[in-house]
Amino acid sequence: MHRVVSETRVLEANERLAARNRQLFGDSGVFVVNLMSAPGAGKTTLLERTIERLRDELRIGVIEGDLMTTIDADRIGALGVPVFQITTGSVCHLDAQMVGRALEQFHPGGLDLLVIENVGNLVCPAEFDLGEDVRVMVWSTLEGADKPRKYPVMFHEAAVVLLNKIDLLPYAGVSLDELRANVRAVNPAAELLPLSCRTGEGLEEWVAWLKAQVIRGRGDGLEAA
Ligand code: MG
Ligand code: ZN
Repeated sequence: MHRVVSETRVLEANERLAARNRQLFGDSGVFVVNLMSAPGAGKTTLLERTIERLRDELRIGVIEGDLMTTIDADRIGALGVPVFQITTGSVCHLDAQMVGRALEQFHPGGLDLLVIENVGNLVCPAEFDLGEDVRVMVWSTLEGADKPRKYPVMFHEAAVVLLNKIDLLPYAGVSLDELRANVRAVNPAAELLPLSCRTGEGLEEWVAWLKAQVIRGRGDGLEAA
């Protein structure tokens, strides 16, 4: 019982800080994606393929959340876009406070799109609003067809679920229809885009979706001004 109360307080404090981040993002006119998945689903590779396709049209920045290493941040930095690393140590998710601190040094003014790559984890990142505009979830075909039912919060909060590694579907022992149905069971509204970062299949659809979101976000900002 005590534990539940203190968790509630943590999440309430997070909500306040997330609102502050959201205000700052809104003032900066930047569209913000919280990119989430289990470890190894392909977030960083997706980000590389996405940046390659959009960097001439959009000013993109990345915040990388990782437990220990700068391996992912180095990969993104190699593409010539600004990147900021949050090393979480033993904490298995990003929270609004960590992102708020990062924003003191890594100001998003001048960016069109900021992608925050969360720590690879299917559980607690879903509980922590970072102040993002949308949550993007990467789910790979080899993780097991039951994942949406076992980790519903993660899937429920996603605006889009990217079904990655469809080139490996023949080895997964499941059909695309079954995977789709399992996502739909917990999130009927999510956009569901099958793709492969390795073969490039489906990447155009994803990039078009993302670009439309950024442009729409910008349009809303202009209407409000
Ligand atoms: Mg990564
Ligand atoms: Zn965690």
